[in-house]
Amino acid sequence: MAAPDPWSCRACGSQIDLAGCSIEVGLVRLATRGGDGFQLGGAGIEPELAAVLASCECGGRFTPGPGTGPAATARFDPDAIRDPAARGWAALEATPALAELREVWRPRALVLMGREQELSKEDVLQLRLEEKLAALQAEVERATAAGEGDAAEAAHARYIELGTTYVRRFVRSHEPAA
Ligand SMILES: [Zn+2]
Repeated sequence: MAAPDPWSCRACGSQIDLAGCSIEVGLVRLATRGGDGFQLGGAGIEPELAAVLASCECGGRFTPGPGTGPAATARFDPDAIRDPAARGWAALEATPALAELREVWRPRALVLMGREQELSKEDVLQLRLEEKLAALQAEVERATAAGEGDAAEAAHARYIELGTTYVRRFVRSHEPAA
């Protein structure tokens, strides 16, 4: 897991963590700074990230830093992120050192760019598994915080099971044969 990158709603204090959004954050960084010296994380590109984050459920906007409210799921505005995602993807394609990242990011990047029609069946499956894994991780965190040990354990077991499938199918298949 990446280091936490907490943001919070100025109006209600709800908190989101952008550490789990490495593709969105990475594409915005590539769009802003280009591919040279690329690093993960949102440091230094906060204004650009604030512009593409969806509003909080209360209607407030998110700003960097922890808040005092409950945890929420980070969401991006599909219209606002389309253009930065496309410019970030172009920068990624122009940077040979980041070729491996391109492989892994491609399905999600296509969705962010509004080019879903280019997804293969395998890409769609990969995205669905990633969404399920993210939902299970959120459930583990929620149940743990609520003191629901059995629910947390069940979600964790399911996460490991699905995670194993994911790695076998999508990570190892990108590795060169031994
Ligand atoms: Zn709010």
